[in-house]
Amino acid sequence: MRTITVLSGGHGGAKFIAGLLHGISAGSLPGVSPDVQVTVIANTADDLWIHGLKVCPDLDTVMYTLGRGLDHERGWGRTDETWSIKEELEAYDVPNTWFGLGDRDIATHLVRTQMLEAGYPLSQVTEALCRRWLEPLHGDRVRLLPMTDDRVETHVAVKDPDLAASPSGLKVVHFQEYWVRLRAGVPAEQVVFVGLDEASPGPGVLDAITDADLVILPPSNPVVSVGTILGVPGVREVLRATRAPIVGVSPIIGGHHVRGMAEQMLASIGVDATAAGVGLHYGARSAGGVLDGWLVDETDAGDVAALRTAGLRADAVPLWMSSDEATAAMAAAAIELVTR
Ligand code: GDP
Ligand code: CA
Repeated sequence: MRTITVLSGGHGGAKFIAGLLHGISAGSLPGVSPDVQVTVIANTADDLWIHGLKVCPDLDTVMYTLGRGLDHERGWGRTDETWSIKEELEAYDVPNTWFGLGDRDIATHLVRTQMLEAGYPLSQVTEALCRRWLEPLHGDRVRLLPMTDDRVETHVAVKDPDLAASPSGLKVVHFQEYWVRLRAGVPAEQVVFVGLDEASPGPGVLDAITDADLVILPPSNPVVSVGTILGVPGVREVLRATRAPIVGVSPIIGGHHVRGMAEQMLASIGVDATAAGVGLHYGARSAGGVLDGWLVDETDAGDVAALRTAGLRADAVPLWMSSDEATAAMAAAAIELVTR
């Protein structure tokens, strides 16, 4: 196996890819050549413009994680961060300071915004940023591709008690506002992907799926991370057509997300927040879906039979990404599931 393509969100996806790379270096992944190329197609529907800056949370989480610059306690942003700019913005009473931007992180957004304003597409901007973060550690083994160069934004409809302002009883907020300011503390009545239907896949995205020897859906959010990548026109079709086996890893363990807000997002689209629910939502390629195999946690072993009945290869193994070694073992089990 010489090329692996991963469809990733932020935290869950990045942690999985770090473990995958660990397994590659350790030689512990069955059938994977030591010089395998890993292409990460990352979700960009969480992106937002704030304080005049273009921020790409999932691209940055992958880039910082693999570049060993991520603050793991916080789960986002830079290590050794300081917050002077945020404090100054607050002192000016500037709106939207709920979105935390550290001083070091802001340098990334300044470089990105300047390049975008000079006319470079997001894919080239990302390549430039990755020259600092990925090349020194990974050479050309790892490529990070935005799912699209077009602007796509996830918005969430929530109940609005102010009926005078919104006669429908709903108001729509940017996904980041739902997650960061509202802390996903109210039900997501509806999730809307603005611009997704008209987006084109970013350069290299479709080829990375078509030419892969293996495609992995890591334990990323099935709605707002992987769901948006699958929603880019053309992506689902190449997944259905690729010769590569496609395997996914459940982000839901024992009926709950490990971290984040997958339960709220799944509820908004009427999918059970269970390991089987998500696997069946993606579906078997043999039945019109996008997966050949689906790995669930050992506590969800009872879900395996239903998944197999639906035409998927399925196994139950420990799915807690507690260390790079544990995550590499998950990756090995995922590969083994669809290649044995
Ligand atoms: P985000 O963009 O930062 O929200 O990150 P992702 O979409 O890539 O990943 C979020 C998902 O990762 C959540 O639904 C979590 O349940 C899942 N997750 C986080 N840690 C673990 C873990 O240790 N094991 C598993 N199986 N899933 C995890
Ligand atoms: Ca995200």
